[in-house]
Amino acid sequence: MQQKETNILIIGAGLTGLTLAYRLRKTGLSAHILEARNRIGGRIETLRKEDIAPLEMGATWLGKKHTALVALLDELQLDVFEQKLGDRAIYEPISTSPPQLVQLPPNDAPSFRIQHGSDVLIDALAKHIPSSKVSLNQQVIAIEKQGDKLVVNTQDAIFIADKVVSTLPPYLFAKTIQLQEALPDQTRAILQQTHTWMGESIKVALTYKTPFWRAKNISGTIFSNVGPIPEMYDHSNVEDDKYALKGFLNGVYFSLSKAERLALVLKQLRKYFGTKADDYLTYEEKVWCNEPFTFTPYASHVLPHQNNGHPLLRQAYWDGRLFLAGSETAHLFPGYMDGAVRSANFVAQQLIASMEKA
Ligand SMILES: Cc1cc2nc3c(=O)[nH]c(=O)nc-3n(C[C@H](O)[C@H](O)[C@H](O)COP(=O)(O)OP(=O)(O)OC[C@H]3O[C@@H](n4cnc5c(N)ncnc54)[C@H](O)[C@@H]3O)c2cc1C
Repeated sequence: MQQKETNILIIGAGLTGLTLAYRLRKTGLSAHILEARNRIGGRIETLRKEDIAPLEMGATWLGKKHTALVALLDELQLDVFEQKLGDRAIYEPISTSPPQLVQLPPNDAPSFRIQHGSDVLIDALAKHIPSSKVSLNQQVIAIEKQGDKLVVNTQDAIFIADKVVSTLPPYLFAKTIQLQEALPDQTRAILQQTHTWMGESIKVALTYKTPFWRAKNISGTIFSNVGPIPEMYDHSNVEDDKYALKGFLNGVYFSLSKAERLALVLKQLRKYFGTKADDYLTYEEKVWCNEPFTFTPYASHVLPHQNNGHPLLRQAYWDGRLFLAGSETAHLFPGYMDGAVRSANFVAQQLIASMEKA
């Protein structure tokens, strides 16, 4: 079995893991990242196909209030653009009355998207990390103590490190990684009741040759209490020459087939746009609860955002050698991209301080 030694080991190459590795590298510290998937980015996944707009199947929007993320984007010289909402939205309050067109109020806090796709941020971070420091297809299954070292086991390799940082969603960490020595009871209880943000969500996207939804003063903005799509938005590219609509599908439809979900999506869109809805170029979807490296079913009911940002998720364990990180652990905007950046910044500071002391 392959064996490797490293000073700092980061589990997960999502926004938290990559930002952390980037921050550490800037101060001269090097870390190795283990990633279970065959790609980096985690819950940031931009689908790219020739001649269609980049489609965000994971994280999409940010606001000016997300100051840690905005600062990182500035630092990496990445630009954002405002989400198109239009002046009027389609609104369906109840199933017994037809959809309405409602005037949208002035938007004081608009949402933005990263120009050319959210994965541009992931790629920009990755450029600062040597590829030899990121191992893909390495699912961590167990962590053990051995003297003053930690031994991290994947399915086919062993990594020995001084410090280990998990960036997994806390519940996934608790359920899927075996720890030789249990964490304190209170921490375990919190981990087992921490919601993985967006873990149950389904994203759907349709690309079109023309943005027909912008005609007659309508927009691609849809709010529906009837569903199955509760929210949908114009998802055209920043150049505004490749057109798309993207929304969420109610999570209860996870067990249907792709064809069945598409039929439901088109049925809803026909109500608003007529048969134009059928002239799509591509239909794409992502059912996040089927992603074992994001979501695993809860043992008991957990509410959206439950325990996100809990202080016990920001403590170091095992004599300061095992850190929990990841968006859900952040003190501000936990669950969001901003939370991921905050968490990475926080753990980077702790690691740098502990290295200076040693
Ligand atoms: C559908 C959807 C829509 C979203 N929309 C928005 C939005 O509009 N705005 C916003 O701010 N946020 C949004 N988010 C949330 C945002 O994506 C997350 O906050 C952020 O990407 C989390 O980054 P992370 O690195 O903390 O976690 P993750 O991205 O989950 O990274 C964890 C990494 O660990 C890896 N991993 C898991 N298990 C193991 C293992 N055993 N061994 C090794 N590696 C492992 C995973 O593969 C993954 O790469 C959305 C999320 C989803 C799913």
